[in-house]
Amino acid sequence: MEIKKTKFDSYCLNGIAEGCKYCVKGEKLVLFVTGICKRNCWYCSLSNKRKNKDVIFANERKCKNIKELFEEVKESRATSAGITGGDPLLFLPRTIKFASELKKRFGKEFHIHIYLPTKFVTAEKLEKLSKVVDEVRFHPEFLINKNTINEDVKKISLAGLFWNKPNIGIELPLLPDKKEEVVNFILKIKDYIGFVNLNEFELSDTNFNIITKNYNLNRGGYVAKGSLEAGRWILDELRRKKVNLKVHLCTAELKNQHQFRNRLKKHKFLPYGKRTEDGTVIYLIVKKKLRGKRKFYDKRKNRTILSEDVARKLLEKPGKYKIIRVEEFPTYDRIEVESGEI
Ligand code: SF4
Repeated sequence: MEIKKTKFDSYCLNGIAEGCKYCVKGEKLVLFVTGICKRNCWYCSLSNKRKNKDVIFANERKCKNIKELFEEVKESRATSAGITGGDPLLFLPRTIKFASELKKRFGKEFHIHIYLPTKFVTAEKLEKLSKVVDEVRFHPEFLINKNTINEDVKKISLAGLFWNKPNIGIELPLLPDKKEEVVNFILKIKDYIGFVNLNEFELSDTNFNIITKNYNLNRGGYVAKGSLEAGRWILDELRRKKVNLKVHLCTAELKNQHQFRNRLKKHKFLPYGKRTEDGTVIYLIVKKKLRGKRKFYDKRKNRTILSEDVARKLLEKPGKYKIIRVEEFPTYDRIEVESGEI
């Protein structure tokens, strides 16, 4: 039993969970079913756009219905999905509907995992979910309320009635000063689960003030100092205690350098674009609607994307059109990385 560094710059003991295998390859669509949650974790990283709002997002795309969800699956070329929130259990019929429609449309092998805060877990709800969800990841409450430990264990143990152990896990943020509590909790829960996922603690706009009050930052200022070290310490403790679980320390580097980049590289892009090695796409555009061959009008951004030969011809008539070279993400929000007139 040894701790291994993965090729995705994360660390693991005994391997990683099935859902993580799709995620690192950039194949998981993140289905955010609601921003409503009754837990109010002080470290919650949901953005203001999502926190405590009943909104649905498939990756970056705000969705109103299943049709838009399917469009996102196709455009992102996802082979699987991770359902998250908010608390998906507060909108259980919606969660089940979305998961079952995904299975119906993309096949049984379209892997679905779900994150569940433990607060509203019951056997009845888990049974319903288990018919459409392959893997369940609980977010226990003990990090915000020590008195819930036994309740957390009781609720998580119910999952064994409906899933096999390798498909039951817990997921926790790596708060540097809580590492002992995390190990103690894992020792209590280990017989009921198959894996643990520990996330290096990243900052967001919403938790920035409270995190910077309690912790220092490192590496470019978006990760809590000591979080990675706490994760390595936990892995080592579990190795020494011969805990037979898959334990994954999911680093910020994994998310930003591998998972996100791989997702960009898989994503479809608009006609006449050129993909860069980083997964971004370069377009030559005119910020108006132009008609004709080898041009594509992008309605959402009210711009015309030009093929290279058309752009070259237009450049021969200086002053007529302002041609801009844009580098952007191929994702639904099409965030620009760089742009400039040529
Ligand atoms: S359970 Fe999740 S969504 Fe709810 S407050 Fe905690 S971190 Fe935020």
